[in-house]
Amino acid sequence: MHNRKTIALDMDGVLANNLDHYLNYYHQETGIQLTDADVLGLPEGECVPDKTAVRRYIGSEGFFRTLPVAKDAQEVVKELHDRYDVFVVSAAMEFPWSLREKRDWLAEYFPFISWHNIVFCGHKHIIHTDYLIDDHVKNLLTFKGKGLMFNSFHNINEHRFERLQDWKDVHRYFQG
Ligand SMILES: [Mg+2]
Repeated sequence: MHNRKTIALDMDGVLANNLDHYLNYYHQETGIQLTDADVLGLPEGECVPDKTAVRRYIGSEGFFRTLPVAKDAQEVVKELHDRYDVFVVSAAMEFPWSLREKRDWLAEYFPFISWHNIVFCGHKHIIHTDYLIDDHVKNLLTFKGKGLMFNSFHNINEHRFERLQDWKDVHRYFQG
């Protein structure tokens, strides 16, 4: 067991579909329904016309607890969990109120991941797993193992890391 390879999984934008949540919040607030095409290539924090909105949504109670789970994530993570040491690594300290919500969210959608394998941290450069799957290049740049970029609307112009398009693609990558 101890010689299994280790994989760190980011939460926001990887296990969870943050974009759908931002767009739903924005729709509820304004009545305007933006589409994925409207936000393609925009920075995450400025993906809706009101540049203060995302920060406000993230800061509101319940945001992290009600995030939609990413398509196919549960099935693929369960499979990875059978063959690798899977860790969830989330830079949660900037939003300390999110800690309980993130923990409860993981218990609901990924109950097979033990609390031993959940790391809520500040900077991710202290993480020394074999792999890191993350949607933000800043986290991959300081990572010493194999960094894999999870496709997201805000990172489409970034080409320094191998890109995984979705969870089906993660499954394909780790199949071999
Ligand atoms: Mg993320």
